[in-house]
Amino acid sequence: MKKNKDKLLDVAYFSMEVAIRSDMSTYSGGLGVLAGDTLKTIADFKYSALGITLLHEKGYVGQSLDLAGKQVSHCEMWNKEEYLTKLPFTIDVPLSDHNVSCAVWQYDIVGQFGSTVPVYFLDSNVQDNTEYDRTLTSNLYGGDSFYRLCQEQILGLGGLALLEKLKFNSQKVRVYHLNEGHASFVGLSLYNKVKDDFSTHNEAMDYIGSKLAFTTHTPVAAGHDRFSLDDVKRVLPADLFEEIPKEAKIEGRLCMTRLSLHFSGVVTGVAKTHEKVTEKMFPKYDVIPVTNGAYHMEWTHPSFKKLYDEYIPEWSYDPSTFRKAISIPDDKIWDVHIQIKKDLIEYVNKFSVNKFSDDVCTLGYARRFTSYKRPALVLADLNRLEEMISSVGCLQIIFAGEAHPKDQKGIELIKAIFQKTQEHKGKIKMVFLEDYNMDMATKLVAGVDIWLNTPLQKHEASGTSGMKAAFNAIPHLSVLDGWWPEGWIEGVTGWSIGTNMNEARLDNKDSWNSEVTDLYDKLANKILPLYYQDRLGFIKIMKHAVALNGSYFNTYRMMNEYTAKVYFPLKNGLNKEAVAKNK
Ligand SMILES: *Cc1c(COP(=O)(O)O)cnc(C)c1O
Repeated sequence: MKKNKDKLLDVAYFSMEVAIRSDMSTYSGGLGVLAGDTLKTIADFKYSALGITLLHEKGYVGQSLDLAGKQVSHCEMWNKEEYLTKLPFTIDVPLSDHNVSCAVWQYDIVGQFGSTVPVYFLDSNVQDNTEYDRTLTSNLYGGDSFYRLCQEQILGLGGLALLEKLKFNSQKVRVYHLNEGHASFVGLSLYNKVKDDFSTHNEAMDYIGSKLAFTTHTPVAAGHDRFSLDDVKRVLPADLFEEIPKEAKIEGRLCMTRLSLHFSGVVTGVAKTHEKVTEKMFPKYDVIPVTNGAYHMEWTHPSFKKLYDEYIPEWSYDPSTFRKAISIPDDKIWDVHIQIKKDLIEYVNKFSVNKFSDDVCTLGYARRFTSYKRPALVLADLNRLEEMISSVGCLQIIFAGEAHPKDQKGIELIKAIFQKTQEHKGKIKMVFLEDYNMDMATKLVAGVDIWLNTPLQKHEASGTSGMKAAFNAIPHLSVLDGWWPEGWIEGVTGWSIGTNMNEARLDNKDSWNSEVTDLYDKLANKILPLYYQDRLGFIKIMKHAVALNGSYFNTYRMMNEYTAKVYFPLKNGLNKEAVAKNK
């Protein structure tokens, strides 16, 4: 540890979940994948950085379906010793009237140019702790609200304690980057540590603001963590509780998003539409958009990697050169695509009673299952789909995704889709693949013909799976939400479903009906005819997906934006003008 004595840290990145590899169940979905892709990119950029998260040794949840299509969740234990190295010390996190001792496990992300970013996993399963405390870092998004509060306290206060142990006090850290509100106690605790070094409250706040960046991911009000103030009082050290700002207390509860908004000098949203939605939710605050990306080295299929190596040798260290995919011969793109698709179809046919074929246009839909993402939209009118299939051309659909075990509606959606795949056997080929994870995502985003997304407008913060598809020349067919309004050129990079950014709500039947009609009309009149009768026209769109969207919606472009808009303005203190100009 001595060697950190004079070292400066560019970024200390806090995230409740980090998706590093498929077989470490330390993530649930998009938020974790973004965190993992970000840290891998930071390693490529050779920044001095580290990640902090919880161990989650029992993982998130694994999924299987029973015969009726009901999701059965199981624990996804993974072997920490196989992947991580335990550090020779523990740290103490104050919780209620005692300390929770946490072991620290390290995973080194090695970037493609050899630089390393360590990720630290805090682990409360330590012998000295009480039985309850030992469970606190076991399950990602498990337990009740009180359990989650304790977890967030360990992430925030424990993370800061670890940084100090590593000799990184706030003067040595250029920016604490909070990925979502779970680590909001970092701001509160930092303020409490440094406030006596300043003569006024405002000076202390400016200092904290110059160090703290917050990325919010949740456009839905209910998605922001709120904890009962009674519970918070019970677990948080009294001096910290005293410092909770009024604006973070809403109806007797502590809003973790508002806590970070209060202390952070820069707040970012994850797409341009999301920035607008967030500013509407929190009108007092400036939010700058830094549209997400996906890490091209992670999500480009090995067969496409080979093709790009041949035609665009710079692509791996400069994904902006995906622009040159336009010049790759059509038959090369198609040959690679079909080869990947064949592998996927073979995989699907292991699980599906409906035998899929590789010459049929294939839609892919895979993500977390929850109401606002409306996974069943494409199945809204099966008669119309059947009619389309017999008059225009065949279609087959692959679904995958898990619902949070407490999300009854999400579980019902999976069951409804599963039952439709059974009832319409023979007429429409559909399959629901169990246990969606990173490995399966890699197969799906590269092996289908079209990537589908049908969220309720203004509810999708960004979405990243459509970006992963773009690296693999897969066009996107989606409602205009999240990143898609930025990547969408109709009939060039893919297609929209519906157009207007209206005030759609969950119960808004009109937007559902008009989007269903638009989706079917586009499939019947544009997409399927193009696929079956104008293959070269379809390949042109595939090439545009890589050239226009792969070249932009990658984490290198994203990291350049974080560097310019977030990390560097913070380096010289909060630069409000630069932030404003960059909006
Ligand atoms: C990329 C990814 C997601 C995120 O998908 P969205 O399109 O952003 O909803 C979720 N789960 C896994 C396993 C992924 O790889």
